[in-house]
Amino acid sequence: MVVLSNVNKHFGALHVLQDIDLSIARGEVVVVIGPSGSGKSTLCRTINRLETIDSGTITVDGKELPSEGRELARLRADVGMVFQSFNLFAHKTVLQNVMLGQLKVRKTDQAAAHAKAQALLDRVGVGSQAEKYPAQLSGGQQQRVAIARALAMDPKVMLFDEPTSALDPEMINEVLEVMQQLAREGMTMVVVTHEMGFARSAANRVVFMADGKIVEEATPEQFFSNPRSDRAKDFLSKIL
Ligand code: ADP
Ligand code: MG
Repeated sequence: MVVLSNVNKHFGALHVLQDIDLSIARGEVVVVIGPSGSGKSTLCRTINRLETIDSGTITVDGKELPSEGRELARLRADVGMVFQSFNLFAHKTVLQNVMLGQLKVRKTDQAAAHAKAQALLDRVGVGSQAEKYPAQLSGGQQQRVAIARALAMDPKVMLFDEPTSALDPEMINEVLEVMQQLAREGMTMVVVTHEMGFARSAANRVVFMADGKIVEEATPEQFFSNPRSDRAKDFLSKIL
């Protein structure tokens, strides 16, 4: 579903992604972990062209995303993205937030977009909040709205970049449960997270990044019980 081949990216002198090769199968859940600054967010952002790359190729469902133009918005919508900071539109209601992309990008009609938005909000457990504004919701509720908004585009893959890092502890599980459910339903997912419980229970594969490189790829069982690289051992000793 997602194939990165020999992807390189620099920020000035910083070689932030170095020869990245990564293939994610349909329905696979890949958890990306690694120290701060290792390039995890940049990796996510390149997959939907929020960042350009210097060399290599990235395809989603066999199609290479153009770097700009009209086609980009449509193809980018195939890649749902959920950020640490929710990024909901503050001056639109929860319902409008989930309708907007459907109307603008997918050209869905008003009634269908409304029905789908409400159904998705129900599914992530915030259906009763539809007429409120984002600031009137808790962080956990806002993040679930952000997930519903991404799902409204019928994405082929969902990227989650530390979706629970900005949440109070008691709200983390309500977001992880929605993500667990999506994983069980067969969504293709790339999840950057420090939630090792989620990685153990939901991931098919763990990708460990350090200094812009993929250092190690393993099943969660292998990775957590027997990491091969010193970098991974060192990282795990600090977070577990
Ligand atoms: P992670 O998500 O693993 O913490 P990031 O992908 O956010 O890492 O960042 C990787 C490196 O790239 C860091 O050193 C960061 O400072 C740098 N970086 C990220 N975005 C930019 C940018 N827009 N311009 C310059 N440097 C950046
Ligand atoms: Mg990051």
